[in-house]
Amino acid sequence: MVARVIPVDDFDLVIFGGTGDLARRKILPGLYRRFWSEQMPPAARIIGAARTDQDSDAWRAFVREAIEEFVSPAKRVPETVEAFLDCLSYVPIDAMGTDGWADLRALMRPEAVQAFYFSVAPSLFGPIAERLKDNAIARDDARIVVEKPFGRDLETAKALNATLATHFDEAQIYRIDHYLGKETVQNLMAVRFANMLFEPLWNAQYIDHVQITVAETVGVGGRGSYYDKSGAMRDMVQNHLMQLLCLTAMEPPAHFEPNAVRDEKLKVIRALDPVEPGDIVRGQYQAGADGASYLDDVEDSASRTESFVAMKLHISNWRWNGTPFYLRTGKRMKSRMSEIVIQFKEPPHNIFTEAVSPRCNILTIRLQPDEGIDLRMTIKEPGPGGMRLVEVPMDMTFAEALGPEVADIPDAYERLIMDVIRGNQTLFMRGDEVEAAWGWTDPIIAGWTRSEHVPLPYEPGTAGPEDALILLYRDGRRWREISA
Ligand code: NAP
Repeated sequence: MVARVIPVDDFDLVIFGGTGDLARRKILPGLYRRFWSEQMPPAARIIGAARTDQDSDAWRAFVREAIEEFVSPAKRVPETVEAFLDCLSYVPIDAMGTDGWADLRALMRPEAVQAFYFSVAPSLFGPIAERLKDNAIARDDARIVVEKPFGRDLETAKALNATLATHFDEAQIYRIDHYLGKETVQNLMAVRFANMLFEPLWNAQYIDHVQITVAETVGVGGRGSYYDKSGAMRDMVQNHLMQLLCLTAMEPPAHFEPNAVRDEKLKVIRALDPVEPGDIVRGQYQAGADGASYLDDVEDSASRTESFVAMKLHISNWRWNGTPFYLRTGKRMKSRMSEIVIQFKEPPHNIFTEAVSPRCNILTIRLQPDEGIDLRMTIKEPGPGGMRLVEVPMDMTFAEALGPEVADIPDAYERLIMDVIRGNQTLFMRGDEVEAAWGWTDPIIAGWTRSEHVPLPYEPGTAGPEDALILLYRDGRRWREISA
């Protein structure tokens, strides 16, 4: 099976923060992989920009090292790496200063697609946007890509949106949530809207509940000072988990087109009920055999920031009335796992007798590890001995179902960057979506601050605090096991 690829136009991509961690680990290796698979036009130009005073050769050496570290050996063909490096140049620019902008303008070509990736601290988004316009660098059809965090509450998100809107139209702004670039997340839309099988059942009448889990094994590590001001709610729920919830719960859009999809996602956020304090559990990891406690990982030894959160949500609309959505995310958990679990209801009447009762169907959309989709079905156990029922998986792990070539899944970043070049905003958050998500999150965080809420301690390597398990037990349900 050969993948069909929609080609992209020739482009000039400027990466502000081209010497940073995100550029080194994700953006540049991702672009190289696209180049290697001949999906990047050979004339395309990638321009690094940051304060570090260096020439293009020095930046190319940095990118070569990034490719060596983050691209698999099979794709590191020496001639291809050299050809990719030939597409690169570097301009020293201080985002707050006046130097370097004329040099950048001189490098930009009038006919190529223009994209500017703001891989810098959010405080620099405004100054860069302003200088791109004041120095007549960005055209009216230029695209800008902005990274998370997009604000830390509704007020700051609104201010950031307003600043960007001074210089760019909404149609030019690409707010990245890399979860939306994951193949399985898009597959969720394919499963729902390209098959007849699921959508008629995709509602409160047939779905018992939904679980969304994003579990990490790592602690806050070197990000302690940033994370402690943020916590799991701001760092994960407001953006990534909220986006997964929206794609799972939204109505079918009329078209697979940016505003049609984003309108439907926005309606989900607006239909969320406020969360009852008893429906939410916050935790903080303790010290374990292989690592320090949260409080040792951050500067403030009395911090009340959560490294884990679990909650039960209700979506107040016709489709979902009565079907709870349970969300949880945390650090230092048992294994690294992200998945959406759709648990269907039991058949209304059991025609089988005694101990043989059918189990619920469970559809699992696995984001990591091993992206894929798994559907649990009940069938008769083969062989003699009467009617015995057994649960079997219909596993569609992409690598097995489609073959290694097609299932060589592109990193979320590389896919999203190519969507920017194509001018496709479908998988990017619109300004009003981000604001609505903060508008829902803010009162929860404000409630914790007001009540001086202290997160519950939890053992590293577990599924979080016991109270998170109880959140489901009390409804007669249980979380799926966190396992790799
Ligand atoms: P980082 O490693 O600290 O890099 C910051 C970059 O900004 C560097 O290239 C730095 O280069 C440049 N920079 C700083 N001040 C500048 C200025 N005044 N003018 C021009 N360039 C300046 O940060 P990062 O981890 O790459 O993160 C970048 C952005 O992505 C942040 O908004 C972060 O929240 C977001 N993000 C990062 C990750 C990740 O995995 N790293 C994940 C999600 C989101 P010079 O020092 O040479 O100027």
